[in-house]
This record gives sequence, structure tokens and C-alpha cells, in this order.
Amino acid sequence: MNQATQPRRPVESGVPDPFPHMHPLLKKNYGNWKWHDRPRPGVLRHVSHSGDTVWTVRAGTQRQMDVYTIRKLCDIADEYAEGHVRFTVRSNCEFMVSEEAKVAPLIEKLESEGFPVGGTGNSVSMISHTQGWLHCDIPGTDASGVVKALMDELYEEFKKEEMPNRVHITTSCCQINCGGQGDIAINVQHTKPPKINHDLVANVCERPAVVARCPVAAIRPAMVNGKPSLEVDEKKCICCGACYPPCPPMQINSEESTKLAIWVGGKHSNARSKPTFHKLVAAGVPNNPPRWPEAAEIVKKILYAYKEDGRPWERMGEWIERIGWPRFFELTDLAFTRHHIDDWRGARRSLNASAHIHF
Ligand code: SF4
Ligand code: SF4
Repeated sequence: MNQATQPRRPVESGVPDPFPHMHPLLKKNYGNWKWHDRPRPGVLRHVSHSGDTVWTVRAGTQRQMDVYTIRKLCDIADEYAEGHVRFTVRSNCEFMVSEEAKVAPLIEKLESEGFPVGGTGNSVSMISHTQGWLHCDIPGTDASGVVKALMDELYEEFKKEEMPNRVHITTSCCQINCGGQGDIAINVQHTKPPKINHDLVANVCERPAVVARCPVAAIRPAMVNGKPSLEVDEKKCICCGACYPPCPPMQINSEESTKLAIWVGGKHSNARSKPTFHKLVAAGVPNNPPRWPEAAEIVKKILYAYKEDGRPWERMGEWIERIGWPRFFELTDLAFTRHHIDDWRGARRSLNASAHIHF
């Protein structure tokens, strides 16, 4: 068939095929593993039914990487790890080797280059963050910056497995929170509705698109000073910030009203207990780059109260469920305020907590 008569093929996009780049032993034993364990924090050992053994060494990175760091990781993979490296969903990097003797030199090399080895089992794994300024149009802060600042503080907890269970921390740069649920979550919180610059709206914004963007139908077209503009019903507005990207004259970010909020007890997995939404425990925390010290202080308080009081295998949410919220606020020394009461009338119907649905 000549080129012109061939049917047009669809352009496939999505997750690339992992097999061409997979370690040969992983490819050979795909779906055929017998057991696995963790000989030490940061190292996984997988044994297959065929008798093959693979050691995986997990290391933390600064999350968003320049090309020189990626080349360095690739060089380490070539020299110490049989030429293979991969990134996990929480942005740890993992190197696979087929001989136990290769594990110690690999760990030594990674640590000497500044990549801590850990993040397995009941440790504080890498913090996952939302896309932030690099890829999204709404951010109220630099989520990846919060990750770097916090992981510097929690470095030792990444390298050890001393928590009651794994701890997944997340950060999100707006209240839409595309990062999902976390044992501890640090999310941007706008405390005031957007301020509208009416002189610019007609020139810059496509008004129907902005009206459609609002999740609670709080935006209406309006004439202001004889010009077509928009108005916000402030009683309805939930200060989510979604109207700002299609209409920058609806400015919502500000030093006074863009804060951080800290949430706890969320999880995605069905393991041991059903998936849960995280709950607000601290609001109005300063959004204070580059180190976010106030947020870091609260996260550490929560983390160490859980470390001290949690029973083996209890996730953060399960620990709180057992001790109750009054005791949680007592142990963490956080103030309980009216902001913690979930009085949204739709919550009963829409907060889907079925164990059969992944979020
Ligand atoms: S959390 Fe919000 S601002 Fe950040 S990447 Fe997700 S949708 Fe964008
Ligand atoms: S901030 Fe969110 S809720 Fe408020 S007007 Fe804009 S889109 Fe609507």
C-alpha cells in the first residue's frame, strides 16, 4: 500500500513502554516474584521463583533536577549499578543490581555525591509535590521549594525506618490540591476572594471562560464604569484561585491573604483501612519562602508526636482515629479553632470514602 492510501493512525500518548529500559533481571522475572524484604533502610531485596535476586538501592534527590544532576545519576548507574536507574512516583531514584557485593559501593558513592539512601518502609519518604510554577498556571507558592526546605529538616527520618508506619507528606501550591492526600499535607490557602482590576478585564479575559471556570458559580458578567467586566459573589466564593489563570486581572495571590494550611491523616491506599481525606489542623500559616520555617515547625511537631505515640503499623490517620482529635491537639500543641469544623453541607454526599475506589 502506498503512503497516500494508508489510513491515518492515531497518535498514542500516555505512559511510555517500560520494557525497553528495564533491568534485564526485572524483565526476565516480571510478575514472577516470590518474596521481598528490606535488608537495611533504603535497600530492597526481591527474590523470584526462578531463583534470581535483585537488590534495589533507593536514594533521595532534590526533586526538580538540572541536566547535570541527571547526568551524574546516569554516570553512577553506569559505573555502579549495571546501567539502570529509575524514578519512583514519589521522586526517589532507584538503582538495581544483581549481586549483593555491589550494594555497599553503590551506597557509598550515592552518599558521597549528596544523595541520601533511605525512603523505604516506615521512614519519611520523599515529599511529593504538585507541579508548581514550572507547569501550572495557578500556583500561590513554589511547592517544590517547600519540599526541599522540609526534606532538609527531615533528612534523618528519610534515612532511618523509625516511624510507626510509612509517612507520606505532600505539598500543593493551591487549594485544588492536585497532589492528592497525605499523612501530612502542606497546601496553599487563599483567605480572601480575588480583587478585580476592572480596567483590564475586557482586554485580557474571555469572560464566558472565566464564568465557567468557577466551581461554585460565584462569577457573573457585569458592566463596571461603562466597561464590560466581571463581579464575584463573595458569599459564595471559596477562594480557590481557579479564576486567576484565565483572567489575571482577578488577582488572588497576596502577601496578606495567601497562606499555608496544614492537613493530616489522608491516605490513598486500601491497605489495613479505607482511603481517607486529610483534615485541616493548622490554618493561616505564613507562606514564607525560601525556608518556610513556621510550616516546618508545625510539621515536625505533628511528626514527632506521631513517632512517640503511634503504635507499630498505625498510619497517621489511624493513630488519630485511636486517640481522638482532642488528644491530637493536646499532643501536638496546636490550637483548635472554628476553621477546623467541616460545616460544608455537601460533605456527606460528596466525600467519597469507599475502600473500593481509588482517588
Ligand atoms: S496544586 Fe494547584 S497550582 Fe499547584 S500544580 Fe496543582 S492545580 Fe496547579
Ligand atoms: S476564587 Fe474560586 S470560588 Fe472564588 S470566584 Fe474565583 S473561581 Fe470562583
